[in-house]
Amino acid sequence: MSMQAQSQRDLAAKALIKNDWPLVENNGLTLLFSPLLSEYKNLTHAFTTRLGGKSAEPINSFNLGKHWEGDDARADAVKNRQTLCRIFDLPFENLIVPHQVHSRNVAWITEHQDLPETDGAATVDSHFPILLQFADCVPVILFDRVTEAVCVVHAGWRGTAAGISSYAANMLASVLNSQTKNIVAAIGPAIGKCCYPTGLDVKAKLETTTSANSSDLINWKNDVPHPDLKAFNALQLYEAGVSEVDVCNRCTSCQSDIFYSHRQSGGKTGRQGALAAIKNKAQR
Ligand SMILES: [Zn+2]
Repeated sequence: MSMQAQSQRDLAAKALIKNDWPLVENNGLTLLFSPLLSEYKNLTHAFTTRLGGKSAEPINSFNLGKHWEGDDARADAVKNRQTLCRIFDLPFENLIVPHQVHSRNVAWITEHQDLPETDGAATVDSHFPILLQFADCVPVILFDRVTEAVCVVHAGWRGTAAGISSYAANMLASVLNSQTKNIVAAIGPAIGKCCYPTGLDVKAKLETTTSANSSDLINWKNDVPHPDLKAFNALQLYEAGVSEVDVCNRCTSCQSDIFYSHRQSGGKTGRQGALAAIKNKAQR
């Protein structure tokens, strides 16, 4: 085997590693934190679950999405976003929440703004906490240890097939003249290959995003491919030069008592969040 083939095989094996993230009770909510990102004291981050809050069935009980019909449901989602910001001492009025559409668009934030058709947001400015929403899709938080810039990405299969994670890593590095080796990343709870049957077309598109042999990233059951979306995003990040990726081992569909799962619920469900912000001087 050539050295290049060997190193690509090593990257694929590395991308498949998953870690235990404990559930943490915090102010009535149940949250998850990446052990890797927790090492960086100037970064605030959290992954929410469906536990906590008072959102009504079937989006019980800590829904952050405004997608659900009805003024009460939308007001409740806003209240939950406020609660989340208050817990982490973040300015809710400046919260950046992109309108996600499964694109590869990542915005660089320097002012409070509306973000149509955007699936990632990045900033180095502590005034702008960033929140994206999920129900099976893959949440990714990237942090540049040198420039202290952060990016939050929403990667479903379409975003993953479009290479949004590697795009975000390259963007985060290039805007501030940094290098991708300065970036660490966390991949939060998402649907696992245990629960994610797809078409052959989806499998083929995912495989085009990496030059490594990604056959180990596909689980086959009854001739149906079940891709490991978390691992595809981790592999993209490693290939882009990101130094370390901490991948949560929890499957949102297997654990639909803890997480919102689009697949498990038949689409009728709420949204959990991935939140990140740079700490201001007073918080450090
Ligand atoms: Zn599962």
